[in-house]
Amino acid sequence: MMELCIECKKETSWGTGNFCNRSSSNDGALDGFLCADCQSLECDRCHKKTTEYQLDGEVICMECIADAMANQWSNPVGEQLTIGDI
Ligand SMILES: [Zn+2]
Ligand SMILES: [Zn+2]
Repeated sequence: MMELCIECKKETSWGTGNFCNRSSSNDGALDGFLCADCQSLECDRCHKKTTEYQLDGEVICMECIADAMANQWSNPVGEQLTIGDI
């Protein structure tokens, strides 16, 4: 039996190199697999193809999320915390 990616119709069976990153997929009409390429989206920030992303109005890859977090931490937001304001 052929195990095709339902997007690009590439073979994803064992030995093709697409096997390890495929995932089962069912789009309602077809039951099959998605190869790594078709699972990836382009990150809206760094424009790299990634399979690990979050959708938050835009596609953000894990690297950019980590960057954004790091930036947040380096901003001196903590200085607004003054306790003498009562
Ligand atoms: Zn594919
Ligand atoms: Zn990114």
